[in-house]
Amino acid sequence: MATEIPVIPTDARLTYDRPADPRDVLVKEMEKRKIPLSIGKTCPVKCTFCYEIDHGYRDTLEPGKTTQEDWDFILDYISKKPTRPGEQWVWGGNEYMEWTDLFLHPKAMDWLEDFLKYTDKSVTMFTVGYVHVPRIHQLAARYPGRINFELSVITLHKDYRKALMPHAPSVAHLMKVLDGPAVASANFYSFDEGTMSEDAKAISRINPNVILWMGCLTPLKGMDEHTVRLCRQGKQRLPGEALRVHEAGLPNITTIHTEPYVTAFLNRHKILTVFDSLEMEKHDTVVMAKSVYRVLSMYRKKRARFLFVPNATLGGDSDCTILLTFDDILKRLTGEKVIHLPKAVLESPRGNNCDISGMTLEEFEARARCTVKVLHKVNTKLADRKLWEHGYLGAYVREYLCNPATREYEQIPVAA
Ligand code: SF4
Repeated sequence: MATEIPVIPTDARLTYDRPADPRDVLVKEMEKRKIPLSIGKTCPVKCTFCYEIDHGYRDTLEPGKTTQEDWDFILDYISKKPTRPGEQWVWGGNEYMEWTDLFLHPKAMDWLEDFLKYTDKSVTMFTVGYVHVPRIHQLAARYPGRINFELSVITLHKDYRKALMPHAPSVAHLMKVLDGPAVASANFYSFDEGTMSEDAKAISRINPNVILWMGCLTPLKGMDEHTVRLCRQGKQRLPGEALRVHEAGLPNITTIHTEPYVTAFLNRHKILTVFDSLEMEKHDTVVMAKSVYRVLSMYRKKRARFLFVPNATLGGDSDCTILLTFDDILKRLTGEKVIHLPKAVLESPRGNNCDISGMTLEEFEARARCTVKVLHKVNTKLADRKLWEHGYLGAYVREYLCNPATREYEQIPVAA
C-alpha cells in the first residue's frame, strides 16, 4: 500500500535575510552541484542531534520555499551543465542554505522524477525516510544506477528513537523504504548495547544488499545535554557493538566511517609517509587535530612542533583537521611567526581559500600576524581516499580493536 508524506505542523520559518535576488543563491548552490530545493522553514523533524542546531559560524541565505517556477529554473540550469562521469548531484543546497529534510516538500517526489527523466545525471539524496513507497522503488528500478539513496535510519531502538527524533517516520515505514531497490546505504549509530548491532541485523534481514554505514554521532555545540550524553555513551559502546556486528557475519557490506581516531590510526603509515615527505625541521609548527597529533607524537616524536588544535567552533567533541576553523587556530597561537597549515583546512566546499566558516587565508594571516605556509600534500582528496580504503567494519575489528598499540595511542595526552 502506498504511503503518504505526513504534514508535520511547524510555524518556524527560516529567518535569514531574503537575498536581493534569490536566484543567485540557487545558482551558487548549483555551481557546487547541489539541487537547491527549499521548504522555506526550519526542518520540522527537529532531531535533537541535527547538525544545523548551531550553525552560527557560517552565513546562511534563504531563497524561499521552492515554487514550480523556481523548479523550472533549477531544472533548466542543471540540464545545461555538462555531465561528468561519476558525478553526483546532491539533493538539497547546503553550502549557502540551511539543510532540511527536503522530502517534506509536497512536490519533492515529482521533481525527483523530473530530474531523472529530463537530465542524464545522477543524484545523491539523504532523508530520514520521508519518501513515497512504492514510488521511490519504482523510480530506482526505472533509472538504475542514477539514484544514490542514503537513508538516515539513525536508530531503530524504540526509546532512543523517540528521544532523538520525535517527528521521524515510523520504523514500520522505514522497513518499507528499505524493502526494495531504492536504498543504497543505511546509516545508523551506536548509542548503547544492542542499538547499532541489533539495527544492523534487522536491516540486513530486510535488505542484504544495502551498505550498512555505522559508527557514532558526534556531539556538536547547541545539542541538549541528554543527546550529548547519549552520543558519548555510544562512543564507549562502539567496540562491543562493532564486535557483535562482525560476529553476526551479515551478507551486507559493513562500514565504520565516522570516527577520525580510528581512521587516523588505520592510516598511520600514510600519515607518516606524507609527514616525512614534508621535511619539517624540529622547530616548525604544524597545525593538526587530535588524532593526527597522537599518531605523530607516537611515531615521530619531536620531529616538529605539533600544534594540537581542538574543533572548538563545533563544540570540542569533533576530531577533524578538515573541520578546523581559523578561529580555532587563532585561540591556540602563542606568538608564532610562521605556522604550517594543512591545505585541507582551506578546502571548504565554499571555495576561495577559506575555512568552513568562510574566513579566508588572507583574513586569518592579518589577524594572526604570522606567515602561513600551506602544506599542499595534506589535502581533502588524500583524506577522502583513505577514509574509504580503510572504512570497513572488519578492518576496525581486526586492525584496530585487536591491535595492542591502540591502547597507547588512545592514551597519548594532548595539551589542554
Ligand atoms: S531530518 Fe535531518 S535536517 Fe531535519 S532535523 Fe533531522 S537531521 Fe536535521
